[in-house]
Amino acid sequence: MEYLPIFVDLKNRPCLVVGGGDIAARKAGLLRKAQAKVTIVAPTVSATTQALIDADELSWINGTFSKDLLSGNSLVIAATDDEKVNQQVYQQAKQNNILVNVADCPELCDFILPSILDRSPIVVAVSSGGKSPILARQLRARLETLIPPAYGKLADLVGRYRNAVQQKLPKLSMRRRFWESVLQGKVADHVLAGRDQQGDDSLQALLEQTKTADLQKGEVYLVGAGPGDPELLTFKALRLMQQADIVFYDRLVSKEVLALVRREAEQVYVGKQRAWHAVRQEEINQLLLTHAQQGKRVLRLKGGDPFIFGRGGEEIETLAAENIPFQVVPGITAASGCSTYAGIPLTHRDYSQSCTFVTGQLKEGELDLNWQALVQPRQTVVVYMGLAGLPVLTKQLQKHGMSAHMPVALIQQGTTTHQKVWVSTIAEIADLAEREQPIAPTLFIIGEVVNLHNSLSWFEKNH
Ligand code: SAH
Repeated sequence: MEYLPIFVDLKNRPCLVVGGGDIAARKAGLLRKAQAKVTIVAPTVSATTQALIDADELSWINGTFSKDLLSGNSLVIAATDDEKVNQQVYQQAKQNNILVNVADCPELCDFILPSILDRSPIVVAVSSGGKSPILARQLRARLETLIPPAYGKLADLVGRYRNAVQQKLPKLSMRRRFWESVLQGKVADHVLAGRDQQGDDSLQALLEQTKTADLQKGEVYLVGAGPGDPELLTFKALRLMQQADIVFYDRLVSKEVLALVRREAEQVYVGKQRAWHAVRQEEINQLLLTHAQQGKRVLRLKGGDPFIFGRGGEEIETLAAENIPFQVVPGITAASGCSTYAGIPLTHRDYSQSCTFVTGQLKEGELDLNWQALVQPRQTVVVYMGLAGLPVLTKQLQKHGMSAHMPVALIQQGTTTHQKVWVSTIAEIADLAEREQPIAPTLFIIGEVVNLHNSLSWFEKNH
């Protein structure tokens, strides 16, 4: 981060603007919005600046810049059309340790003025670090559509109740939960719809009804994080991720998804490598339980869908037995994400009428699958965890009658920017995998639909 965003209280603080043109007037106007005491120094001023002077918004020193004008100012902005003067302001300000900004000249700036979305008291500042003010402005415009003006009123309402809530709810964690329910519920709905009084009344009622015990109950969210691309998360997953106190995540959860978990939440990695470990799984079950019993909102974040080869069922069985409340949020499973991003429809009227998901995980070097079922025509077979057992799998399928030419796709790190797709046949895919050494996680799709990859693949072309 090249610039630290901070919000500065400039009320009644002297600030100097050097220059009398329209840009200087704009900067001065901004400082006035924050109620700074603004002085402009310039030999002549534009009509806009003159209007501000006439309205007593600014004091005007009719003359040229000299260093003695700097003293006592909190910050200085230079916006003249004379590069030399701008340079001189910058150097003098530096020497006197006064923060300086030279308009349109990022190299001569200690601070930059961001693009501002003003929903006071909510203020959003967007900066591109001086690289592209236009991009920052576009972003601000997008935020404008996302944050309706009534957000300011909502913040004011919360501000009015802060003390009362603090008195009734002594613990920070309780207050956080209370405010979350206010801001995600009826109170916010009323205010955002312009029903200010009803918003105020429901907040009052909510505060009276809330019992501290309700705000101390633990809960577990078992959430599917999808196959990698963070945009494949559901709204519900994101909402629960944003309110967790602690998160237990495994190897398949992508960095980008993890970055969307509430920043203050404690993050615990409980990743498993290829061989599933019974004890380890029990430990995880226990961890979820203990933290929920301590009153925390525990997020269990799993790759893909928690109920598809995810052991999600086992994790919540323990919770159910102990009467711990939990919610389960489905995620996009690897088969769905990888097939879509590889341009391979799992079913197709001409080639495949059903689809089976199997695990290719070896048990003592063997695979115990219903081979007869898997070799039936007009279906798609998706193999999870299949890389290590690939030679066994392909041999068995052929032994039970699958054609050696049956197309197979190997998809590495599907839906991420590292996605790679190889297409081969059941006879040759094991050699291909040995040669190419794909990086986990990998998924196999077996069936005629794989031939569609050539014409339908879209994702890799786009990045
Ligand atoms: N619950 C997960 C599956 C967990 S089992 C889900 O619904 O997707 C782990 C296996 O999922 C991996 O061995 C791999 O076969 C597959 N997998 C998960 N994410 C993947 C990805 N992004 N690309 C390819 N395969 C993936």
